[in-house]
Amino acid sequence: MIHPKTCGCEQCLGDVIEELREERDEARAEVKRLQDDETLGSQIDRLADFIMREVPGEPSENEGAIDTAIRVMRRVKTLTMALDVATDIRSR
Ligand SMILES: [Zn+2]
Repeated sequence: MIHPKTCGCEQCLGDVIEELREERDEARAEVKRLQDDETLGSQIDRLADFIMREVPGEPSENEGAIDTAIRVMRRVKTLTMALDVATDIRSR
């Protein structure tokens, strides 16, 4: 008999538990990989170096490289939108 996995019998329950264990183990392995990954740390360091060397006036807040980058990009987005509006008004 082929079990649909949802029939609730002992065998299907066993199969589901086995699959969940595999998924959990994969997730644990993924977490371990991320924790061991020094690349992420070095990327953040590179971003921090870039901000300090090439973004005038930054970092201006006591925050990490990622938050500084997000804040700067947000400002660029806002300024770009304002510039578009101003340009549009002038061209009328
Ligand atoms: Zn079953």
